[in-house]
Amino acid sequence: MKTSEVLQAWARILAGRAPSLSIEITKECPLRCPGCYAFDAAHLGGETELRQLSDYKGEELVGRVLALIDEEKPLHVSLVGGDPLVRYRELERLLPQIESRGIYTQVVTSAFRTIPAAWKEYHKLNVVVSIDGLQPEHDARRKPATYERILKSIEGARITIHCTITSQIAERPGYLDEFLGFWSGRPEIERVWFSMFTPQRGATDVEILNPAQRASVIADLRQLRVKYPILEMPEALIRELEAPPSSPEECIFARTTKTISADLTTPVTPCQFGGDPDCSQCGCVASMVLAAVGHHRVVGGLTAGHLFLASDRLGKAWRGARDGWFGKPAANLPPPFKILQP
Ligand code: SF4
Ligand code: SF4
Repeated sequence: MKTSEVLQAWARILAGRAPSLSIEITKECPLRCPGCYAFDAAHLGGETELRQLSDYKGEELVGRVLALIDEEKPLHVSLVGGDPLVRYRELERLLPQIESRGIYTQVVTSAFRTIPAAWKEYHKLNVVVSIDGLQPEHDARRKPATYERILKSIEGARITIHCTITSQIAERPGYLDEFLGFWSGRPEIERVWFSMFTPQRGATDVEILNPAQRASVIADLRQLRVKYPILEMPEALIRELEAPPSSPEECIFARTTKTISADLTTPVTPCQFGGDPDCSQCGCVASMVLAAVGHHRVVGGLTAGHLFLASDRLGKAWRGARDGWFGKPAANLPPPFKILQP
């Protein structure tokens, strides 16, 4: 993250806005991955589940998403789901509109469907393909988005690979090396990120890493980032995996990212996992990136994290008071559909 980007983010926080917006643009997904947090019963707090929400399609979805972006004015938008490629026609409309606003976009997908090679022309777009380990384990978990399907879907595209490390992956020595060896030679791959499976508090999923597995993965990552430059995980980030934020209140990622579910109204809290995530076992790469930024010293003992967290309290209090005094600006109203004309 550049200093100018930190300053821009700080300005947004001081204005009571989250610099990052994550939108579940659809509740639909053709996959049924074990351990998926989006379809977990706790994701939206327990009373409603993602599949029960009413979501949008077509021009209405495009208009409402753009209205949300124009209201929140983020620096960065993540389009997630479900799988956002379920709404690929709408994405074709959204991506140029978001790019023209100077906003960075991330699309997170299983690549069950073709990623258009033309998307390489967007300078502020990062397409992230989720891959759950090597082919045998991945194919068992993520049919129909098998390795064979993904390799066809990404032909000619430019993507980031994101793999969530589970206990099954962590228990096999050399697994991550083999994984990186497979993907690092491919022209479509710009970078690789690893996260570690993050459970809800008190959960007993088989994917959860025990402390020894977690330590062993962290040691592997330190070696592999040197061996494979495509593994974009700096030492400062890996260090954060050793001591994740102690709670959502201490998590800069959670405090600076607003996540909205598929009805474009329901918030997902305290972070993208929803429910009651176990921060002590967090392995989310995005959270660790911002934790590393937060530990950057600005002056003396003052860190960027101190500034972000204090400013977040101040900014939200100010925005709350402003909305109370002057009324909340019209939210989520689709703008005139003329914006959709080519
Ligand atoms: S592709 Fe993503 S959203 Fe769909 S089931 Fe798998 S983890 Fe969940
Ligand atoms: S991203 Fe991780 S550390 Fe942050 S609130 Fe969520 S689970 Fe906790």
